[in-house]
Amino acid sequence: MALMITDECINCDVCEPECPNDAISLGQEHYAIEPARCTECVGHHAEPQCVQVCPVACIPVDPQRVETRDQLWAKFTALVRAKTGA
Ligand code: SF4
Ligand code: SF4
Repeated sequence: MALMITDECINCDVCEPECPNDAISLGQEHYAIEPARCTECVGHHAEPQCVQVCPVACIPVDPQRVETRDQLWAKFTALVRAKTGA
């Protein structure tokens, strides 16, 4: 699953630079995760980095975005290809 940021977000800016996929950005009212870019950190880290650093624990899995580990891995490789042009 991709993760999502709830409206409990306090806009502390801590998570954005930790995302290896540049999936996090400031939305209209609080930070948000672009689902197409969130691999739950699969391919980069053992644990979701945004969840590790968030001080208010407002980054749950998005039940609307159920993905298997294989799907997350495929998303990761596609993002790498897009970035490197390979
Ligand atoms: S789980 Fe990882 S890839 Fe997804 S938004 Fe958080 S830091 Fe980025
Ligand atoms: S770390 Fe948590 S509270 Fe801070 S901007 Fe990210 S989601 Fe919001």
